[in-house]
Amino acid sequence: MRIVLFGPPGAGKGTQAKRLCDRHDLKHISTGDLLRGAIRKDTEVGREAKKHINDGALVPDDLVWELARQALSEQNNDNFIVDGFPRTVTQAEWLDAYLEGRGKPVSAVISFEIDPEQVINRLSMRRVHARTGANYHLDYNPPPPDVREEDLIQRDDDRPEAIRRRLEVYKNQTEPVKHYYERKGLLSCIESIGSIDEVSERIERVLRREDVLRK
Ligand code: AMP
Repeated sequence: MRIVLFGPPGAGKGTQAKRLCDRHDLKHISTGDLLRGAIRKDTEVGREAKKHINDGALVPDDLVWELARQALSEQNNDNFIVDGFPRTVTQAEWLDAYLEGRGKPVSAVISFEIDPEQVINRLSMRRVHARTGANYHLDYNPPPPDVREEDLIQRDDDRPEAIRRRLEVYKNQTEPVKHYYERKGLLSCIESIGSIDEVSERIERVLRREDVLRK
């Protein structure tokens, strides 16, 4: 199955993607993680991407697609989750053309619905483990006691100015992707509030209802 997790930053897509991948043996493809990896390695793509990311803007489609296409082609079991991608209609069209060309189109798109105020809270309270990349929320999903405070970092794009810009970008450039998939009959919406377990259960229900597990 090939699932797209869609929604604003801070909606919990990354957390749920990891769970789904463990449970259903899927590969997790997060363009945000791929871009941060390129920045860490100081590649040409990474250096270009960094400017946009720290501003809260989108990285140009062709750069993101280069990384996404490579990740898609590296795995051959055709069972994966894309998280944080596609973020523009152009990216969605490229993804669809690529997957349809392989006879393995997107099985389902799950849209995480959440109020923007909650997004601001979640992102400003998010901390990331510098080495493992694990995400925590200081109140709702605190790091375990053995994690040292100095190992937790706040992403530059989780600072208030960048969060506001990311939400604006989401509304203007990414929300049209939702309508694109709605027209294709692939969209299911879930409420992304409540505990991590509650949100997981809503996703599992959609997968069962749409019979995605067998696609
Ligand atoms: P994320 O970790 O998914 O929130 O992504 C962090 C940042 O990486 C975003 O705010 C964008 O600047 C950039 N980014 C990630 N995925 C994409 C994408 N599909 N298209 C454009 N920019 C992206």
